[in-house]
Amino acid sequence: MPRQFFVGGNFKMNGSVDTIKGIVSHLNDAKVDSNTEVVIAPPALYLLLTREHLRSGIEVAAQNVFDKPNGAFTGEISVAQLKDSNITWTLLGHSERRVVLQESDSFVASKTKAALDGGLGVILCIGESLEQREAGKTIDVVTAQLSAVAKEVKDWSKIVIAYEPIWAIGTGKVATKEQAQEVHAAIREWLGKEVSSEAADNTRIIYGGSVSEKNCRELAQEKDIDGFLVGGASLKPAFVDIINARQ
Ligand code: PGA
Repeated sequence: MPRQFFVGGNFKMNGSVDTIKGIVSHLNDAKVDSNTEVVIAPPALYLLLTREHLRSGIEVAAQNVFDKPNGAFTGEISVAQLKDSNITWTLLGHSERRVVLQESDSFVASKTKAALDGGLGVILCIGESLEQREAGKTIDVVTAQLSAVAKEVKDWSKIVIAYEPIWAIGTGKVATKEQAQEVHAAIREWLGKEVSSEAADNTRIIYGGSVSEKNCRELAQEKDIDGFLVGGASLKPAFVDIINARQ
């Protein structure tokens, strides 16, 4: 079975009631490739609004979730609360959280386990900084981020791996198709060795970092690029062109 193409929209801390309703209504009316799985991740405050207005067939993701059950954790949101709100996915380990909020590999791993145990799908973000790339450490960095998760998680069937080089995020400097393919292939090889051959064959590995309607088609032809995680462009009508990159 070929891996189903997957496109996520990460709104980050952007949007308002009005603009998010606008994006949702545009998606509801758009002709989207029925072979593509689409998930959008608005800020937590707008998850319910998004789920309420978005048509079925497109899923909604949180941008983060906490690793503890409901209780005294001011400011956090639990896996059970997401499930209760029909939110079926979460992003985890985005570099903005790893860097700005200092989330460690092991904290990301613990949240990944909690999300999967609670029945959510996880878009697990990994990626290297420019300094790490220039030092030739890209594969070491991404496999260390994955290894932390592999210590906690055995079943990878509900994980989508998003390879997002930090130097490409929000910079307009997209990885070349060769750069992205090389890392995606290395991630797949790692899955084969460290998890299982099924995980290597079946896990979607998507690319993120300045994906646009202009560069998506070329990237989408690479054999180990199974879709995209889109930031800035997911807020624009052109997001639909990215969803349809394989058409
Ligand atoms: P970008 O963000 O598409 O705006 O570069 C991607 C991401 O951070 O997920």
